[in-house]
Amino acid sequence: MPPVRETAIRYSCVRCEALSVIENTCPEPERRGVLVRGVVQGVGFRPFVYRLATEEGLAGFIGNDTDGVSIEVEGQTERIEAFLARLRVEIPPLARIDSVATQDLRVKGESDFLIISSQVIGQVSTGIPADAATCPDCLHELLDPADRRYRYPFINCTNCGPRFTITRRIPYDRPQTSMAKFTMCAACQAEYDNPLNRRFHAQPNACWDCGPRLWMESPDGSPIPADDPVSVTIERLLAGGIVAIKGIGGFHLSVDATNPDAVRSLRERKHRYGKPLALMVRDMEAARALCLLTPAEEAQLQTSAHPIVLARARENNGIAPGVAPAIPWLGIFLPYAPLQHLLFADRRLRALVMTSANLSEEPIAIDNDEARTRLGRIADAFLMHDREILQRCDDSVIALVDGAPQLIRRARGYVPLGIELPFDVPPMLAVGGHLKSVFTLARGRFAYQSQHLGDLENLAGLEFFQESLAHLMRTFEIEPEVVVRDLHPGYLSSSWANDWAAARGLPVVAVPHHHAHIAACMAEHGLEGPVIGLSLDGTGYGTDGKIWGGEVLISRPDQFARFAHLEYVPVPGGEAAIREPWRMAVGHLHTAGIDLNDPAIAESLGATPKELALMQRMIERGLNSPLTSSCGRLFDAVAALVLKRRTVDYEAQAAIELEGIAIDEGDKGGCQDYVPELWSTKQSNDGSRILKTNRLWHAVVDDLRRGEREERIAARFHSGLAEGFIWAVANARKTTGIAKVALSGGCFHNRRLTRLLREGLREEGFEVFQHRQVSPGDGGLSYGQAVVAAAILRNRREQGPPGP
Ligand SMILES: [Zn+2]
Ligand SMILES: [Zn+2]
Repeated sequence: MPPVRETAIRYSCVRCEALSVIENTCPEPERRGVLVRGVVQGVGFRPFVYRLATEEGLAGFIGNDTDGVSIEVEGQTERIEAFLARLRVEIPPLARIDSVATQDLRVKGESDFLIISSQVIGQVSTGIPADAATCPDCLHELLDPADRRYRYPFINCTNCGPRFTITRRIPYDRPQTSMAKFTMCAACQAEYDNPLNRRFHAQPNACWDCGPRLWMESPDGSPIPADDPVSVTIERLLAGGIVAIKGIGGFHLSVDATNPDAVRSLRERKHRYGKPLALMVRDMEAARALCLLTPAEEAQLQTSAHPIVLARARENNGIAPGVAPAIPWLGIFLPYAPLQHLLFADRRLRALVMTSANLSEEPIAIDNDEARTRLGRIADAFLMHDREILQRCDDSVIALVDGAPQLIRRARGYVPLGIELPFDVPPMLAVGGHLKSVFTLARGRFAYQSQHLGDLENLAGLEFFQESLAHLMRTFEIEPEVVVRDLHPGYLSSSWANDWAAARGLPVVAVPHHHAHIAACMAEHGLEGPVIGLSLDGTGYGTDGKIWGGEVLISRPDQFARFAHLEYVPVPGGEAAIREPWRMAVGHLHTAGIDLNDPAIAESLGATPKELALMQRMIERGLNSPLTSSCGRLFDAVAALVLKRRTVDYEAQAAIELEGIAIDEGDKGGCQDYVPELWSTKQSNDGSRILKTNRLWHAVVDDLRRGEREERIAARFHSGLAEGFIWAVANARKTTGIAKVALSGGCFHNRRLTRLLREGLREEGFEVFQHRQVSPGDGGLSYGQAVVAAAILRNRREQGPPGP
């Protein structure tokens, strides 16, 4: 039985038994067990602890196990206390401590501190590290002709390198990674074994003599002889070629971003016409030359995740206009793998298009054979390597909203770091939605989101989903007891969830789309509610079977009520309207009672009188014209009319362009008529209030007729819409007394709208909560689904079985 420490202070020391000795001054040694949970494997945590313990003169050991790291320290109490204090403060850059638990143990009389090898015991709750960009030390060695790893494309250490993408399961040790097949040379092994070396237990440690290697291939699979494949790749790129380059989480397709012809042929071969392409820039200097960067944007570019950051492009920056047509932003990122640094090292290349290697919306290619098959018609050459990628992982994308980072796509560098939950949840799987799919595995106080999986519309997307699920279930040893899905019965993810649960005899919980959005935002901030939830989104199946998306909800984790919503309008042609926003404009104009036979309107929509008549007939007869309150579709409709954008190449393109053209406009001025009116008449079955958009549409059409600039109209629309929602939220407070607002939904990718709402709500005295760790779009949905289902199940447990 361990001694009771508290008694020592009041009565006598438990170790030396001297009366009235303050415990910390007892000269006798003590021993304590310390269990640290968090991201503590594969991030240099053991050598760090070894160094701390040695510096404090403590004996004992440290080992990785599936519970995190387990430490025992023996020595004087004050030294142990100093050790524990420094443990939290001096933590290595990639590590994260979630909890530290200590326990008193019997003194063993040891004198050395040891690092012991991994054990596999118990339930996995430790974090697995995310992939990290090349650290400054490794970068220095990479470019140092005197270093033994000079120009070695796979240099890494405990502070950097691949992690998640090369790991099969935890504990994170070399045999569990795709580095298992490379036997370290004596020099690498010595580094790996030396607790004081930066490469101590760096699992992907390697060098020219023992590690992975590069080579080049033609699209037909024949090798391209090259002493230095990197130099040949640079030459090919400078000559305008398209090179498929194997990276950390998959292949990229790369071209010189300053070469318009190369960019054009990449788009043509990839069948990707409008969607902006990601741009990798040589260094911060090159980034600043291309974009107007805020300090927060500069900081985000340089985090260990090295995400793609959306930033305002400078004029005449030398980048081919085809990289990001019709929008004022570029998605830029810095080299994060040594191979990428080498491509820029001779300074001839300034910026490279580095886009996920796939055909339109398919998952990114990772396997060499898969790349040969799928990319053979796109790439002119392949830069291959023989380190296997075990997990597909796209580059992450963020934007800064009022200086705070917001995830648009959460993948490389963030996955699979756990996200805390506000309360304990049973082991569960939440499958997310339909587009921008991400699933969540949760257990206890943590949720683990998968990487961005793309759209679950085709077999390839579904296979990626299943492959990633199997991997993360294995990694975290989570066997779901509950499956959670969207309420929409027609989603592929919903039917998949039903089948998967049925095969295992598990219960399924279906969660309404917008409740999940708001619950996700609440959970990130530990809010158990109630809050006013503003869910502004493209598409989300509602409890009345209609498509919701402009919603003011009163929400708790386990339930919600609909307070107000944008008025329902018909969507002629249903899903087709997403690709053809002019149809959406017809739905809105018809609802607002605006004459569609006006030639100016027909011309703006790019529609023939015959097409317009057909749409009107569809609407009037209710043929394939579902009703929606979607805010995203309202943006599409206004953009279609104002920008004459009949069709789009990617989801939300019209809305993004509408935000883009307003970028230099002020907020106020002439937006009064653009404010939707809040009607409290009980027009809807659920008794919620309605934000009518008639007046808004008349204002848009009047401004167009007057020849008002489209930039001005776009700005007025943003301001007016924001004011309408603020008014609705203020009304919700009047009714409920709630003054906390949670913002969620894909429309919060729109920075102008987000800023207007946040500033306006704060002025009205609201406390405003926004997403920080998961995407406000459908990428964050599964996290919210898990929270809602867990809250419902918790209530059922607390209430017990129904009485007689
Ligand atoms: Zn490093
Ligand atoms: Zn080596």
